[in-house]
Amino acid sequence: MKVNVISKGDRRSDFICMSLIEYLKPHQFIIDEENPEFVIAVGGDGTMLHAFHKYKHRLSDTVFLGIHTGHLGFYADWSPDQLKELVHALRFVPYQIGKYPLLEVTIWFQNDQKEIVDLALNEGTVRSEEGTFVMDVELRGQLFETFRGDGLCISTPSGSTGYNKGLGGAIVHPSLEAIQLTEMASINNRVFRTLGSPLILPSSHTVVLRPVSSQRFVMTLDQFRHIYDEVRYIQYRVAKQHVRFARFQATPFWNRVRNAFIH
Ligand code: NAP
Repeated sequence: MKVNVISKGDRRSDFICMSLIEYLKPHQFIIDEENPEFVIAVGGDGTMLHAFHKYKHRLSDTVFLGIHTGHLGFYADWSPDQLKELVHALRFVPYQIGKYPLLEVTIWFQNDQKEIVDLALNEGTVRSEEGTFVMDVELRGQLFETFRGDGLCISTPSGSTGYNKGLGGAIVHPSLEAIQLTEMASINNRVFRTLGSPLILPSSHTVVLRPVSSQRFVMTLDQFRHIYDEVRYIQYRVAKQHVRFARFQATPFWNRVRNAFIH
């Protein structure tokens, strides 16, 4: 089996990464950085985001698994003291695949020739580079509201425990094919009005954001941040692709939520 192991880059994760490679090598696992069938992220949820973006062009041929070197994560559920057990499981135990929905983002520019299409595992956000962010929000092709405020966040179900949660969004089980739109500090007064609640949209619905004044925006996709100029509109929807995680041991999603946020 072709495997790649990706480290967070700190000393502990690097050490665990090297130990895992030593355990894998004698058992016919080939370390292949280009075309791995199996990608093991050693670090935390942030490391899984890096691993996902490194291999998002070959999602149907890649299965991911995470080892946490800090706290139990949402994407990283193996602990560093289980390395031998993990290698044994990879060799002998038939595993289940957990398929999580992703966010597809398409940006169209004033010059119609150019468009950017990308995927996020956690979320995409958009804000103005300066001044109040103003966008017409269209749901399924119809104007829903004109948003004024700091910005908007569109998250996946598995990303709903990340930035989305900090914005007061709901936690969504990753078995649901949906995306969530949350506001960042909307202006609500007698003149300007937004819904003020997070919205959860099914896979058949799209969110389109159309600039009202400025066309220059700061956009993030997971850990990446870019500034785009001359934006005509931005579309968000549930992606056709999924990310696939190997499930050897059942750690129910709500247990992870409880471990992460309650105790
Ligand atoms: P970072 O600033 O190094 O890490 C942000 C924190 O978010 C880390 O503790 C990370 O966990 C955690 N995280 C990542 N994905 C998560 C998920 N799906 N559910 C729960 N927690 C999650 O940034 P980064 O490593 O580049 O990660 C970027 C992500 O950070 C973004 O996609 C966003 O979701 C999140 N973020 C959250 C806030 C907020 O809550 N206010 C603000 C900015 C960014 P690990 O320690 O396990 O890596």
